[in-house]
Amino acid sequence: MSVGFNKKLIEALLCQKDNSPIEIENIESGDDNVIFSGSLKCSSCNQSYQIKNGILNFLSSQADLPDVMKDEIEARNKEAGIYDERLSVRYHKEVPSTLKTIGDLEGKKVIEYGCGTGRLTKYLADECGLILANDFSLESLFILGQKLAGKKNVGLILADSVQLKTREKYFDIACSFQFLEHVPTSGQRANFINNTYDTLTNDGISVSTVYHFDLRRQKNKQSIEGMHNSGIFFHYFTSPEIETEFKKYFAKVDLRPIDITLPMEARLKLSVKLAGALSRFFENIPYINKLGHLLIIKAKKE
Ligand SMILES: [Zn+2]
Repeated sequence: MSVGFNKKLIEALLCQKDNSPIEIENIESGDDNVIFSGSLKCSSCNQSYQIKNGILNFLSSQADLPDVMKDEIEARNKEAGIYDERLSVRYHKEVPSTLKTIGDLEGKKVIEYGCGTGRLTKYLADECGLILANDFSLESLFILGQKLAGKKNVGLILADSVQLKTREKYFDIACSFQFLEHVPTSGQRANFINNTYDTLTNDGISVSTVYHFDLRRQKNKQSIEGMHNSGIFFHYFTSPEIETEFKKYFAKVDLRPIDITLPMEARLKLSVKLAGALSRFFENIPYINKLGHLLIIKAKKE
């Protein structure tokens, strides 16, 4: 069994060419709630969008990507199978704090950008009303589709999340986790943050995590921007920098560091759970929290 594309979420979609509403064109297999395979079409220009294995393909109809992002797609597809394992050691430092910041999910409509293999998506899908999760790595979405098999409240989209436009004032929560640091220019990031602003309801919230230019990196004079060995672009943010990018659009922006590794931690050989508990405690302690690997940003329209 695979995951299907939730039919109700079609009302949240816009044609990637002209921003017109989208409708069902053909269902090859599906049930009352979801489409496993078939196609959707634009109500205006008739552009057709395929759904296979429950994954809707927008990518082939979006504007061509810069080379640096094409390289990232290749790298993401290659590492999709090992990604979850690589990040699992930091689960207790990242996931509980992130879910707590998002807050109540019951009945909420959620859009997640750059979902990858769904480190967070599976928890969101368990609790929320509907979730539209998107990424430009098909291999990653396949893995996520298997994790979400049997769920009826999900829509997976293969798309460049930076240029993905969805219906205005539709979603209650827009989120992205360790995503914005891989968007190469501040202009592209501004475009993305503007899109998330537009698709949120007036009392909706945006929650994002990004790489933090933390105290350790500053002291070691490590670079603020560059390429990982895998060929993926990265940028580490200072608090004022990312706050400014969100404040261009959002009226209220709160942020704090999370995912803290204490200086003596490796030597103490703490369990991952205890390290997670300590990390969450120190998130709120000034100065020490400057060691946080990530910044979490919560933004509201009003
Ligand atoms: Zn169209």
